[in-house]
Amino acid sequence: MRLPIVHITPEQGSVSAIGWAHEIRDLGGLAFILLRDRTGIVQITIPKKKVSEDILTTFKEISRESIISVTGEVKSVDKAPGGREIVPETLTLISRAETPLPLDVSEKVPAEIDTRLDTRYLDGRRPKITSIFQIRSTVQHALREFFYKHDFIEITTSKIVAAATEGGTELFPIAYFEKEAFLNQSPQLYKQIMMAAGFEKVYEIGPIFRAEEHNTSKHLNEATSIDIEVSFATHEDVMDLLEQLICTAYQCVAENCERQLEVLGLTDFSIPKKQFPRLSYADAIDIAARKMEEPIAYGDDLGTAAERAIGEEMGCHYFITDWPTAIKPYYAMPYENEPEICKAFDLMHPKMELSSGAERIHNHDLLRQQISAKGLNPDNFEFYLKPFRYGMPPHAGWGTGAERLITTMLELPNIREAVLFPRDRHRVVP
Ligand code: ATP
Ligand code: MG
Repeated sequence: MRLPIVHITPEQGSVSAIGWAHEIRDLGGLAFILLRDRTGIVQITIPKKKVSEDILTTFKEISRESIISVTGEVKSVDKAPGGREIVPETLTLISRAETPLPLDVSEKVPAEIDTRLDTRYLDGRRPKITSIFQIRSTVQHALREFFYKHDFIEITTSKIVAAATEGGTELFPIAYFEKEAFLNQSPQLYKQIMMAAGFEKVYEIGPIFRAEEHNTSKHLNEATSIDIEVSFATHEDVMDLLEQLICTAYQCVAENCERQLEVLGLTDFSIPKKQFPRLSYADAIDIAARKMEEPIAYGDDLGTAAERAIGEEMGCHYFITDWPTAIKPYYAMPYENEPEICKAFDLMHPKMELSSGAERIHNHDLLRQQISAKGLNPDNFEFYLKPFRYGMPPHAGWGTGAERLITTMLELPNIREAVLFPRDRHRVVP
């Protein structure tokens, strides 16, 4: 197996290493190549008078970002990265990079996000970018471990569907043989069906598709949703679970990604404190009305400006609870004694919404009624409604945007930074 560059030490004597030529400097009698892999950088020092002709010939052919391999003695030197250098006995050019490069990997020349996304194959070589996706991987691992420990069953539901989850226009139609079908905007209906199927605790981490026309720094047209549904649970129960999950994700990053956090300049990374404040929708509207210039009233949805105003006042993760039934989806459970409000909640980061969830309606007739009340035709939801007639447990759940979790956790300026190949209004390639 190859020796990762970070593990090369002078004690090893002679080593072989392989990676990208990060920087090349020719000072006449002495030349240097910085050799990089995803773990770090090591200096190759070439004293021209002491090395073979072959090495000198190869050196001339090497361009920045070419793949090269080297064998040679490792020596301690104070000034080199990691305090060591390799003096080559052999030097091989394995895959030459053309010049000029479409993107400067060493970050001396800053690049626009569009150029970077077009050239992810170069952008991904930058330590900052690698760090973001190493952290995302750590978070997804921590989530799966959390769910496994809490006795969840991981499910995978179809992304090709015949009906919209919540109606509306945010759907991508696709040609499905002779039928019309859509890309699913949420696994909501399916995870609820699995409650009827007796799975009790399910989770899915998978893609959701939203044909939202707007181009913002927090919306994608293809996003990753972390979704759960739990039987015999209330909205309070799943809020507790969500808050625990968020803290676990942060904790796991703090424990395992120290180097990546440092690369990203997040030296003051802190784990959110439990318990997250719970603010009623009515109180949230009051704060927004007080702080915003544009008018906002009870019954309005919370737009970006309102989310910002409330987030500024709260200054930490918080829940917005007790939403008007009229502005939440039909499956949210209304309070028995006050059906104009429902047991729905949003989890908020001061900068944006992270999750939406609710205790769900488990009564068939009430659900049918609520679907109609939203102006939708219950007959189109027969596959979803039928399971409610044969023993549906009370249940609750939520969906959390994975990219928003990473964007807020790492203070990224744009959600596109948390996706390898974002899909937005203009971007379908690469
Ligand atoms: P918003 O109001 O911010 O557009 P939403 O309320 O429409 O979001 P939900 O349907 O509640 O979104 O989806 C649950 C979660 O999935 C959201 O809180 C968010 O984290 C994530 N999410 C939804 N749509 C998108 C999107 N277009 N891009 C990125 N993440 C999304
Ligand atoms: Mg929402």
